Order: sequence, then structure tokens, then C-alpha cells
Amino acid sequence: MDTLYLVIPCYNEEEVLPETSKQLLAKMQSLMAAEKVSEKSRIVFVNDGSKDRTWEIIQALHQENPIYQGVCLSRNRGHQNALLGGLMTVKNHCDMAISLDADLQDDIDAIDEMVDKYYAGNDVVYGVRNAEGFYKVMKMMGADVVFNHADYRLMSRRALDGLESFKEVNMFLRGVVPMIGYKSDKVYYARKERFAGTSKYPLKKMLSFAWEGITSLSTKPIALITRLGTLIFLVSIIMLIYSFVRHCMGATITGWTSLIVSIWAIGGLQLLAIGVIGQYIGKVYLETKERPKFIIETYLSDEDADADKDKTQK
Ligand code: UDP
Ligand code: MG
Repeated sequence: MDTLYLVIPCYNEEEVLPETSKQLLAKMQSLMAAEKVSEKSRIVFVNDGSKDRTWEIIQALHQENPIYQGVCLSRNRGHQNALLGGLMTVKNHCDMAISLDADLQDDIDAIDEMVDKYYAGNDVVYGVRNAEGFYKVMKMMGADVVFNHADYRLMSRRALDGLESFKEVNMFLRGVVPMIGYKSDKVYYARKERFAGTSKYPLKKMLSFAWEGITSLSTKPIALITRLGTLIFLVSIIMLIYSFVRHCMGATITGWTSLIVSIWAIGGLQLLAIGVIGQYIGKVYLETKERPKFIIETYLSDEDADADKDKTQK
């Protein structure tokens, strides 16, 4: 039996924590009773610099039952960093970790299926919810994300190890996890309304989150500028021919031809030049991320033969 850790980032969640902890405990106990997860499994709350009583509640929960654990960040660092901090803290104690939001908008009954899929040999299991425009825009801008998947997912220990090797500061988990590789699967569920408290993601934060995702995963916006520059430059050539014809026909006033041709040509060339410079900056940007070039799944060598056998028996 393998050990499961639930990781829950919490920012000002005093209103939902009592109920959330109760429901998660029941879920965990049912999983243990069904012998799906070991007795060493834990529920870990990550306090992301909350200004309310969130941390006091987490401490009280830990006192009451050691199945609850708490990680307290030094200050608010945002959902993605809180999640990453929690996952990296528990990584060496668990065989699999599931991340989910404190408001339980993500149906916790999907956990059973995620665990089943883990035992079926998947290293990553994505929780996938109903359609949202957010992902369509992201895809269009070249950010390769799993459609309609938020941060509700199961990751095995070696997938977490893989995640650790991504050193980038602008960590957009939804985009980076698919880059780790290994076998993955999806579990579908209906997303509910928040049962108490208010969203910590107002539209403004949501938009900046989407922009963060696009710019930290893709350099496609730069390519769009280059394409636009090329297009405008082509238009300038058409304008040159058109103006020349008009000029020869004597249908223009003095100065118009040279003026119109130079406006288009200079505009197009400038945009094209910016695009080309952008392409290089995009390359430099990707280099600075120092992403792993590969992650090895298995190495069939003499010494590791036994270790590998263990792995496939999980
Ligand atoms: N969260 C966090 N730090 C923040 C903002 C949010 O840890 O700075 C947590 C929050 O406590 C919740 C999760 O991220 O567990 C998702 O937030 P929320 O439910 O408000 O987002 P929504 O579901 O409205 O997109
Ligand atoms: Mg929510």
C-alpha cells in the first residue's frame, strides 16, 4: 500500500477550513479502510501568509489529530508558489501527492479514481473540469496546457522529483507538469461553487495569471509580431506598385507617392526588426529557465535490476 499526501494551499481560508478538514478526513479514512492508501497518509495545509486565523486553525487541527500537518510560508507568495512549496516539502515522505484547493470546489470523490489510476501505473493524473474560456486563449497563444485542468492533480513521487528539476522562477504548474512526461491519465468531475468565503482570484488576478502562463510557457506572441511585420512590409511593396502606377497615370499630387511608400515600408521594417530581436530575446529567455533536457524513466543496468523490479510491483 502506498502513502498519499493531500496538499492544500490556503490563503485567508478560516471560513472553509473547519468544513474542508472534516470532509478530507472522512475521505482519507475511507481510503485507508478500503486499503487503498497506507496509514502513513497525511493531509497537509500550506498557509500562504494568511492575514486571518488560518494558521491558528491549522495548528489546532494538527494538535487534535496528527493526520493533519501544516506548512507555514514566511509570507504570501501566491497560489502556485504555495502549492509548489507544499509539494516539495512532502515529496520525500509520500508515494503520491494530490493537490487541491481549500474551498473544495474540486469534487473530492474524484480522489478515489485518481488513486486507482495511480495504481494502474500513471505518474500524473489530471483532474479535468467543465469548459472554460481561459484555456482556449492560452492554447491560442501557444501555451500547451491540459484543457480545463486546474491544479487538482495527483503526482507520483518520481513525477515530483521531475518537477523539482525545473528551476524556473516563473513556475506555471499547469504548463510545466505535462513537460515532465511519464504516463498520465485524466479524471473528469463537475466543478462546484465555493461553499464559503470569497474567491482569492478576482478577474484582475485571473487575467494576470493567464498572461503569466502564456509568457512563461511560450514565445508565440513574439512570433506573431514578426509575422505582422512581414505582412505590413508586403503591403508596402503592394503600395509601392500601386502608387507608382497612380503616379505614372498622373492621378496624384506631388509628394504623395514617396510619402505613402515610406510610411508603409518603414512601419513594416521596424515591426519586422523588433520581431527578429524578439526571437533572440525569446531564445535567451528559454535558456535562462535551465529546464531539464530529459528525465530518465528507467535504466536497465545490472545493479538496478532489483530496484526496478520493486517499482513495477507497486
Ligand atoms: N490561494 C493561495 N494563495 C493566494 C491565493 C489563493 O494559497 O495568494 C489558495 C486559496 O486558499 C485556495 C486556492 O488557492 O485554496 C484557490 O483559490 P480560490 O478558490 O480563491 O480561486 P478560484 O477557485 O476562485 O479560482
Ligand atoms: Mg476556488
